[in-house]
Amino acid sequence: MAYDKNNIFFKIIHKEVPSEIIIEGKYFIVIKDIKPKASVHVLVIPKGEYTDYGDFIERASSEEIFDFNKGIQLAIEKLQLKKGGYRLISNCGDFGEQEVPHMHVHVLGNG
Ligand code: AMP
Repeated sequence: MAYDKNNIFFKIIHKEVPSEIIIEGKYFIVIKDIKPKASVHVLVIPKGEYTDYGDFIERASSEEIFDFNKGIQLAIEKLQLKKGGYRLISNCGDFGEQEVPHMHVHVLGNG
């Protein structure tokens, strides 16, 4: 699947659409999910143009992949999820029922 810039996360990354940004790194942002499914629900989104997890791992640089994963860990620490535990989810394609075709990882917890 080719990357389509006409998606909400592309617009959020480029500040064309407002969002609640919790952390911003060189290669990623962490935002609050607009329809939270837990008391803490954020999305870690790479700034690069990748459709899903597989596309990200195949095409992103090692630096981007490292920075992105550090971003997940920073979110876990900042939101104080370590003690109570958390879930990391990345929905891909049809089976994953992916809604937004820009790679992202959900972080859910109780905070
Ligand atoms: P999925 O692609 O299935 O992993 O889900 C996309 C997620 O993005 C859903 O949990 C939505 O609630 C969330 N979402 C969609 N639009 C926005 C937005 N403008 N700001 C924050 N989260 C959003």
